[in-house]
Amino acid sequence: MRTAQATPSQKPLQAIRWVACLAIATFAVSCVCEDQSETSRAGGLDDDPITTPQIPAPATLMTNPYNELTPEEAYVIEDKGTEARNVGEYTDNKELGTYLCRRCNAKLYVAEQKFASNCGWPSFDDAVADAVRQEPDADGRRTEILCAHCDGHLGHVFLGEGYTEKNTRHCVNSLSMRFYPEGEQLPPIGWLRAPKR
Ligand SMILES: [Zn+2]
Repeated sequence: MRTAQATPSQKPLQAIRWVACLAIATFAVSCVCEDQSETSRAGGLDDDPITTPQIPAPATLMTNPYNELTPEEAYVIEDKGTEARNVGEYTDNKELGTYLCRRCNAKLYVAEQKFASNCGWPSFDDAVADAVRQEPDADGRRTEILCAHCDGHLGHVFLGEGYTEKNTRHCVNSLSMRFYPEGEQLPPIGWLRAPKR
C-alpha cells in the first residue's frame, strides 16, 4: 500500500523540479539577452545617451483632432452647403455668449456682433479678429466666409446693405457654429496638425 501511494506523491515533486528547471533556463536566456544588449549599447554609435538623436514627431501628428460632424453639419461645413432659411437653431438667439466653429472650436463671433436681419440666418456685423477668412465664392458673385483656423464653410458676407453702422452682414449657417452661453467654459481648439510655432 505504501509503494502504491508513493508514486502519486512523487508527481508534485517532479512538477516542482520541472518548474525550477524552466525558471533557471528562462533566467539564463534573459541574462544572455541582457549581455547582448549591453554589448550592443557599449559598441553603439554614441556613448552618451543624452545626446542620442530623437526621432522627430511627424508633422501630421494629431494632437487634438476636430469634432466629429453629423452628415448635416458635414454638408454645410465641408461641402459648402446652405442650411434652409429660418430653421437654424441660432437664427433668433439673443442670449449673451460666444459662437465657436462647430468643427474646430475656434472663436468666431460674440453675441454683441449679432443683429436681427430677418434674413432667415444668424447675422453678425463683425467677427472675432482674424477668426474669419473671406474669398470669392465659386458662384462668381458672392464672397464666401470660412473659419480661418480649419477652413470650414460658414456662409457669406454682404456689404452695403445698411443694417448696422458697420454696413456688413456675415450670414452664417447655424450648423457651422456652436453657441456657448456667457460664463460657460469654452472647449479647447482642435488641431489636425501640430500647431505652427
Ligand atoms: Zn474651424
